[in-house]
Amino acid sequence: MKKIRLFTAVFFAFLLFQSHKTDEGMFLLSDLKNINLKKVGLKIKPIELYNPKGVSLVDAIVRVGGCTGSFVSNEGLIVTNHHCAFSFVAAISDTINNYISKGFLAKNKADERQAKGLVCKITASYEDVSSKVLNGTQIISNSVDRLKLISENSRKIVEEENKNNAGLSCEISEMFVGRNYTLFRYKLLKDVRIVYVPARSIGEYGGELDNWVWPRHSGDFAFLRAYVSPDGTAAEFSMNNVPYKPAKFLKINKAGVSENDFVFVLGYPGRTFRHRPAGFFKYHEQYMLKYVSNLFDWEINEMEKIGKENKFLEIKYASQIKSLANTAKNYKGKLQGFKRVGLTAKKFEEENQLESFIKSKPELNEKYAAVIPRINTLYDEITKFAPRNLWFDYIYSVAPILATAATIDNFKVAFQNLKTEEEKSDFKKRNQKKLKETLYAFKAKYDLTFERAVVKKMFEDALKFNSENKIKEVQIFSEGLNESDISRKIDAMYSLTLFKSPDEIDVLIDTDWNKLFSMNDLLLYFASQLNKELNFYDDEDRKREGELNLLMAKYADAKSVFMQTNFVPDANSTLRFTYGYVKGYSPNDAIYNNAFTTLGGMIEKEDGKDYELLDIVKELYLARDFSTLIHPKLNDLPVDLLYNLDTTGGNSGSPVMNSKGELIGVNFDRAYTATINDYAWNESYSRSVGVDIRFVLWVLKKVAKADSIINELKVEL
Ligand code: ASP
Repeated sequence: MKKIRLFTAVFFAFLLFQSHKTDEGMFLLSDLKNINLKKVGLKIKPIELYNPKGVSLVDAIVRVGGCTGSFVSNEGLIVTNHHCAFSFVAAISDTINNYISKGFLAKNKADERQAKGLVCKITASYEDVSSKVLNGTQIISNSVDRLKLISENSRKIVEEENKNNAGLSCEISEMFVGRNYTLFRYKLLKDVRIVYVPARSIGEYGGELDNWVWPRHSGDFAFLRAYVSPDGTAAEFSMNNVPYKPAKFLKINKAGVSENDFVFVLGYPGRTFRHRPAGFFKYHEQYMLKYVSNLFDWEINEMEKIGKENKFLEIKYASQIKSLANTAKNYKGKLQGFKRVGLTAKKFEEENQLESFIKSKPELNEKYAAVIPRINTLYDEITKFAPRNLWFDYIYSVAPILATAATIDNFKVAFQNLKTEEEKSDFKKRNQKKLKETLYAFKAKYDLTFERAVVKKMFEDALKFNSENKIKEVQIFSEGLNESDISRKIDAMYSLTLFKSPDEIDVLIDTDWNKLFSMNDLLLYFASQLNKELNFYDDEDRKREGELNLLMAKYADAKSVFMQTNFVPDANSTLRFTYGYVKGYSPNDAIYNNAFTTLGGMIEKEDGKDYELLDIVKELYLARDFSTLIHPKLNDLPVDLLYNLDTTGGNSGSPVMNSKGELIGVNFDRAYTATINDYAWNESYSRSVGVDIRFVLWVLKKVAKADSIINELKVEL
């Protein structure tokens, strides 16, 4: 009887976790050997895809800031997304030369413009360093001390590695919380220049309306070039630098792909949470996603309102609004996904199965019986204090003037704790630059009108929290006051504070720290009190985080015994491989979405408002001037394509390759139903979106007349 029950439990567990086999599709390079690549559709040898001892396609992949790109010529030419280059193009634009709206094309190399601040990274090698990172943690019982040791060990390893690997930059990535750590060695390219970006009406056709949406008609691509010093080593921007010669660059296949064709992506996906426990899912669904999307919507609304009255602020807010809207829409998509899939309940169900499995095996029970219950208790606590913690998570990012005061207060506390004048002067020397950098970063976002409004909103929210979540300092500030009194008091706090004048703070940072720290300023006082309260909660969070770190390591151990396999770690901005097929799907009841969109569809959408087109695009369409790039079946020029790959943020700009490893598209987004795939991937709703290489080539050739790029890509058109 017992045996039968056990067998049944294992069998059900197998069924339940089976779907996970496909959901873990962001493979590490070290996992490639476990996939039958030939069987799934790859027509080149796996060693041509990844060769740790030689050159392979992997060497053509480059991390472009928070995005991905790929080398497409032996002169350091990189293709990535328009939206990945956006802020760098904005930085070289002004009202006379608005490259954002009209696009940018460098006539020759000398004409290329610096993408200031953009750093590209190439994975040079990697190594498992778990035992070194965890060395000594086994005998530590205090969870906070254990975390400290992990970060101290990691710091030392990285320091040593950086010393021994001149020219490389080393980083340790946590692959499974508290359990597996990999050291990555990266080659950095610090001189990156803008070669070509299409006009915004092509690169971001349909703007926010079409973001996270399929069908899509956006030419979301851009070309950059990496430069190095003449001796081949990475160097800061200099006119003496020369184009970087990548070990490998991708070949372009101008014929593109067709529906059902095998495709794959190599790139740097940012973050997924699939291996987190059910309590984490519950917290995200019930609190975090709602809180953030509501807050961001409120901010966008307020910024738009202010922007209507003030052209300067309208421009200043443009890219902030773009980024807030991108996240808010993504989070709403995720919330819809949680509901549609019933994800949190499913996750709890899976965890119950895992728990029953642990209980059924005495040796596992002895080791892991307490793991899941304790994780749940900790997440219950996190959930209980969600309103307060989320409020603290965002108060400083929405209110940069208050955040400046809070930063000054942090430095003040550290400074005043020092005993001797010598220590103080040393501290000042070490931190002056840091303090100024923080000030300048905040200063760029200063706007008194918005800040007053958002702080009032945050107060209003906090005053509604239940007794367990009350923000003490907000209570004290508001004591005995009605809503309009509170509003007046906030206004007064901001009119009187010196922090609204960053230039004066700047002078004080240079000249007089004693004066800076002893200012009689209500905003500084409020920030200081808020910091104390926050530090107290941070300590509690750290204890929980420390405990969860160890528990999660055990959770992953138990889960791998249960599933009898080692599963693929969540995305963490490290290089991954994912494969699948070009495929349409049914996102909603009674709707079927095709796998390709066309120029005809792009023209149809035009309304002169949300969808604007360049005249040349319309003229070329009317003349059916598609070069040799027409899709035979569609009898039109393909614009974007859809595929069932496993991608996330950070995969933006990743090359989409065909079975021969040739470039046929550039990944840039996911369909709305796929936004949930950060928590759970499923073939029925997960679809990623790329721009078809035929559209890229057509825009280069016909719209931009960028023959030099076409020649460099070695494509005959
Ligand atoms: N559009 C996304 C990004 O910006 C890509 C994605 O999340 O799929 O990274």
